[in-house]
Amino acid sequence: MRTLTIATLSFLGVALTALAQTPPQYEVYAIRYATLPQFPISALVKGGDAAVKIDVPCYVWLIRGGGRNILVDSGFYRPQFMKQWKPADFVRPDEAVARAGVKAADITDLIISHAHWDHLDGADLFPNAQIWIQRDEYVYYTADAWQSGGKHGGIDPADMAYLLRENTAGKLHLVDGEQEILPGIRVYTGGRHTFASQYVTVTAKPGTIVLASDNVYLYQNLDKHLPIAQTFDEQSNLRAQETMKTLVKDPRLIIPGHDPAVLQRFPKVAEGVVRIE
Ligand SMILES: [Zn+2]
Repeated sequence: MRTLTIATLSFLGVALTALAQTPPQYEVYAIRYATLPQFPISALVKGGDAAVKIDVPCYVWLIRGGGRNILVDSGFYRPQFMKQWKPADFVRPDEAVARAGVKAADITDLIISHAHWDHLDGADLFPNAQIWIQRDEYVYYTADAWQSGGKHGGIDPADMAYLLRENTAGKLHLVDGEQEILPGIRVYTGGRHTFASQYVTVTAKPGTIVLASDNVYLYQNLDKHLPIAQTFDEQSNLRAQETMKTLVKDPRLIIPGHDPAVLQRFPKVAEGVVRIE
């Protein structure tokens, strides 16, 4: 009897351990917080038609589950960007996230896909978040990008200064390449939109979802197998797109960074918010 009890307990223990290790089935939302008017396709898709212009939505992506509210990218809101880009449909990113039902203070983690202004500038709107970025991205855009021969288009020094402050506060996590950074949340590099841009996979109810961010700008990139127009390395970008296709059971679960069709392909839960399912 005693042996049986111990056996039963140890079986239960194994089962509980397995349960604890099963990643959450997250819910994932795409949230539009701004639209940049009249962008030429050629600025998004290599070889795209320069005469065709589209209104380009800007998104952040919310992942809920396992006691966490994880945000992929933080949008922008500072006045110089409003003045320069004159966005339509603008809702400050923290307010846009509130439309999806989560207060800014309740965002536990912020995964920065890359350091461009429209993805990083709003980071300080989420004051309690642990921040995750690739080490090579952080190091490049705080150092060599500003040396002779470096590239820093789209990087705002104030945004990098914020990351430095968060680092000194113990809230910045520097990631080395492909890693599962949180249960069921894995990041990958290779897209090379920026020096070390990353994309994210999420275990979710419909299966693994890829949040590509700007490693894929539009569905066109995936469908026509064309690199993004802004990349450090076109071949690496295409390889990353191929890898994304191997990570999902259905290509519709790869979510591009700026495609207006995301808002049509998935069910609307609030203004500018759709659930990926
Ligand atoms: Zn972008």
